[in-house]
Amino acid sequence: MKFENMNIQENVLGSLNNIGFKEPTKIQSETIPIIKQGYDVIGQSKTGSGKTAAFGIPLVEKVTKGTRAQALVLAPTRELAKQIASEIRKFSDLKGLSVQTVYGGVSMRPQIMGLKNSEIIVGTPGRILDHMRRGNFDTKNVKMFVLDEADRMIDMGFIDDIAKIENNLPDDRQTLLFSATMPRKLNKITSRFTENAKRIKTETKVDEGLLEQHYCDVKPYEKFSLLVHLMKEEDPELAIIFCKTRRETSAVASNLKKQGINAEAIHGGLSQHQREKALKKFHDGRIRFLVATDVASRGIDVDNISHIFNYRLPSNAEDYVNRIGRTARAGKSGKVISLLSKDDHASFRRIMEKYSYKVGKLEISDFKEIPFRKRSSKRRRSYKNYRRRR
Ligand code: ADP
Ligand code: MG
Repeated sequence: MKFENMNIQENVLGSLNNIGFKEPTKIQSETIPIIKQGYDVIGQSKTGSGKTAAFGIPLVEKVTKGTRAQALVLAPTRELAKQIASEIRKFSDLKGLSVQTVYGGVSMRPQIMGLKNSEIIVGTPGRILDHMRRGNFDTKNVKMFVLDEADRMIDMGFIDDIAKIENNLPDDRQTLLFSATMPRKLNKITSRFTENAKRIKTETKVDEGLLEQHYCDVKPYEKFSLLVHLMKEEDPELAIIFCKTRRETSAVASNLKKQGINAEAIHGGLSQHQREKALKKFHDGRIRFLVATDVASRGIDVDNISHIFNYRLPSNAEDYVNRIGRTARAGKSGKVISLLSKDDHASFRRIMEKYSYKVGKLEISDFKEIPFRKRSSKRRRSYKNYRRRR
């Protein structure tokens, strides 16, 4: 199958050609035709399988130039909203549509202008709702409503906001919902927001051929030492080290720096600017290691991540699926190593029961003990300054 044979609008096809998309991925070849026919669609496929274009291509086809806010795409995080917008801009490049991102943490004013002048709106639920309440968002033209990473939005507690947003949209619109996983709690919103939806499910599991998954047992106080040991031993091209909390993420990153390992943290407690700076460095290959929380990692769209280290396992099994979906992308191989201490065992069991992955125990050679400071050095410094000032 080629995009050329999918009856796609000339100018959209031209844009796809320009960015080098020739063949649709599975989720794209299965959903694009039925979205074009006008059906509501509930699409499920693994992370990295091309869900953005699955809804983005027909969306750009259906939107006409010159009429404001015809499509509304909701995403769980700012990073993701930006990424979706930038991908849709590429598809609509030749068609000349305008795409406005709408998320919190930045000024409302340009967004208000954009809501009036752009055909396509991509945003996070909180800020979209905010604009709706202030009368900045005229929704009467919305004919496509997309919920991307719907599983994540539910996990992040956006259900009420989404329901309120949906309430403001015309009834005869088309609704598309995409997700890597379909936890039961999603049924409530799929039945509420969609009508006679077609369900498409492809490749929900990771490609076991390209992805190796391992675990190793370690005492909590040796975890950091083992991480450093593994990072040296494995010598990843690019790696993400996943932690559970913001504090842990900062602490691991700053301790890695102390070991001369160039790592940056990204988590929800950092400013938008800080997160973007770190992501860009990672994207450009200026740093090889990113220490991240699950939420922050959602914005990472990098193809050659060779390793995922789970410094702590997530309590939510779906987060594990999303973590490992960051590697073994675009035909490249990837390796996942989970460092398990007693706090991780229950989560590990739950994940393995749910997804029955093949995960091998990693044999570890002796490793050096390395000190780990729980508090970041910045905190201590500011405390010292505080004392000095007094
Ligand atoms: P998902 O949302 O399923 O996690 P994305 O939409 O982010 O996946 O796509 C993953 C990567 O694959 C992106 O870098 C995207 O540009 C690329 N991609 C998507 N579809 C195609 C295609 N048909 N041909 C080539 N690359 C593609
Ligand atoms: Mg996606």
